[in-house]
Amino acid sequence: MHREVTTTVRVKLHSLTGRKARLVEREYGAFQDAVHGDDANLYSATMQQAEKVRSNKNPREDTEQPVVLRNDCITIEHDEATVLSSWWFKLPVYNPEKEKGDSIWVPVHVPEKDTHLLEDEYICDSELVSRDGEWYVHLVCKRSVAVADEYDDVLAVDMGAKWIAVSTFLSDRDTTFHGAEVRRVREHYKQLRKSIGKAKVRSGAQVIERLGDKESRTVEHKLHQVANDLIARARERNAVIVFGDMTGLRFDTGEGRYVNDKTHKMPYAKLANFLTYKAHLDGRECTPVAEYDTSVTCWRCGSQNTRRDVQGRLECHDCGLDDNADKNGALNIGQRAVGKDIQSPLSTAGAVVAQPETQVVLTGTNGEMEPANSPDNVGLTLSEGSPRLRSWE
Ligand SMILES: [Zn+2]
Repeated sequence: MHREVTTTVRVKLHSLTGRKARLVEREYGAFQDAVHGDDANLYSATMQQAEKVRSNKNPREDTEQPVVLRNDCITIEHDEATVLSSWWFKLPVYNPEKEKGDSIWVPVHVPEKDTHLLEDEYICDSELVSRDGEWYVHLVCKRSVAVADEYDDVLAVDMGAKWIAVSTFLSDRDTTFHGAEVRRVREHYKQLRKSIGKAKVRSGAQVIERLGDKESRTVEHKLHQVANDLIARARERNAVIVFGDMTGLRFDTGEGRYVNDKTHKMPYAKLANFLTYKAHLDGRECTPVAEYDTSVTCWRCGSQNTRRDVQGRLECHDCGLDDNADKNGALNIGQRAVGKDIQSPLSTAGAVVAQPETQVVLTGTNGEMEPANSPDNVGLTLSEGSPRLRSWE
């Protein structure tokens, strides 16, 4: 199997001559005019991109939009022989003197770690960005990477409210809790923000803005760490990674505003992106799984006659399971990923319900069942390889 991996490489323009600086500046300004519906002269392909941005995003008047550079109009080249810079970028601009589209070669700095991406990889449409008085081009590089077809286990990931992620191996339910710090970071800044807000209104606003920046960088760093940990864990057992796809439905279970407020600010989407990207680079499949009902269904018997308590436990009134609620969610995600229907109409007395490699047989009408699923018995038939059942760490 192959998966496409997209990496954005940020290259910085430097040592621009006055003439080139003016052309870049002019192009950027003209692009802003064009996306806001004003007349402008632009490189023709860039004008088309401006029209697209205008019709798709209809950006507000007070925002700046990066100049979208069509991939067939840009080139990046390595040239050790030049003293000024070893990397050069061909930037399309409108030339007012010639009254037509033109291109200029500008010196750029490429981060050392990214240079390999630019030599033989495919560059997509990219963006010219202005930040803090500097010019950058965000080069979007797309590659196809091979991911394995067969795995020995499933690492199921639940992105929860209490932990940024909880991961469980489907074979033996070995569970790890990741990234409580993220919540702490958010709590810390939330408190700070509150106290600043109360103290001084005017300067407070500026401090809060800066805090926001710092917070998101810290959180992002933690998310990268969590994603790296998850990949390392999956690699240990040659496991495929599956994660619950956030749809916003999950916490709509009457747990109140406090929980909802927190969960919605959790950067699920970012973690999902980091995880998928890093997994694919690791040659490993990583797929989202529908998340509905995974938090309220008992992983062992499939009943939804369950209760989540404040300590983060999930209790099943049908089979008596008492387990960590996030682990329960992750196991359901894992089971769904291997094609098992996690829901079973256990409330229908007398029904015979097939659950993960075991049968739950209801007897009578009192909801008792027999035999109970053994906690040590979980079926796993994702690939031909037999699961290696060693615990992690
Ligand atoms: Zn149960």
